[in-house]
Amino acid sequence: MSALSEFSLIHHYFETLTPQREDVLLGIGDDCALLKCPHDHVVAVSIDTLVAGVHFFADVDPQSLGYKSLAVGLSDLAAMGATPAWFTLAITLPELETNWLKSFSQGLASLAKEHNIQLVGGDTTRGPLTISIQVHGFVDPKKALQRSGAQLGDMIYVSGCLGDAGAALQYQLNQWDDAKLTDQDKQYLKQRLERPTPRLSLGQSLSELASAAIDISDGLLADLGHIVEKSGVGARIDLDKLPLSSALSKIDRKIAQGFALESGDDYELCFIVPPQNFSQVEKDLKGQVTRIGMITDDKGIYYLDKDDNLSPLIGIGYDHFAY
Ligand SMILES: [Mg+2]
Repeated sequence: MSALSEFSLIHHYFETLTPQREDVLLGIGDDCALLKCPHDHVVAVSIDTLVAGVHFFADVDPQSLGYKSLAVGLSDLAAMGATPAWFTLAITLPELETNWLKSFSQGLASLAKEHNIQLVGGDTTRGPLTISIQVHGFVDPKKALQRSGAQLGDMIYVSGCLGDAGAALQYQLNQWDDAKLTDQDKQYLKQRLERPTPRLSLGQSLSELASAAIDISDGLLADLGHIVEKSGVGARIDLDKLPLSSALSKIDRKIAQGFALESGDDYELCFIVPPQNFSQVEKDLKGQVTRIGMITDDKGIYYLDKDDNLSPLIGIGYDHFAY
């Protein structure tokens, strides 16, 4: 690496860009950061690594990459109902490109400011482009949203729209296209892939209302699959209820439902609501969330087919939705 040492690199591009919090007793620049946690909360911690060519295109806009690298961690905090506080960053770069780093740090900082999360430490190395971010948030341990709380008779909800990021990825890989999509639609889908919205305020309001939650990083079926497995229950989904954006509403319904069920990277929340909270969720979160099914005592995830038979959804693969 150049004359800029690891220490000065982090200082130069990152230190002053993120909010300065009072609970950071000592930030970047010593062997460790010193951090103060509120006495009635615990720290929720999660780490994600993004690798060029695996999780993102190496030539992706660095500002979007900075944004997304933090967004995926914030989404995990949202899924626990936690409030963001601090993060650390490990960045591996093939070479020191100051313009690239500047843009990357600006994308990262814009989201950090929005959610009052401070960078408190970091590490840089030379190698294939890789970003690791560990996020830390506060949560009341009695209210943390876990995957294991779903019960028979609870309802399944999701936030936002599903499948947009997956459609954008398939389009960018030249594996799918649809003549009905305008340039504006494609731009919207790309934005959803590159700049997902972590649902933090929703997650915090769900901590009083939901019995279980997860963020949708690997696709609805995979992630709802974690909830049913951890909770020892099953699920039944109404495919016609899957919320689709206006872009995906234009394309073949089966293909759109395939994206919504199986493609990842949307970073919406999937959450489970017990009967006593149905009406409050429908009232308070109207327009933000959609009820897509219910928790059953079947083992696995099913839908009702056109002949009213229950058919399994797990492991059917993209082929089933044939695009
Ligand atoms: Mg997650």
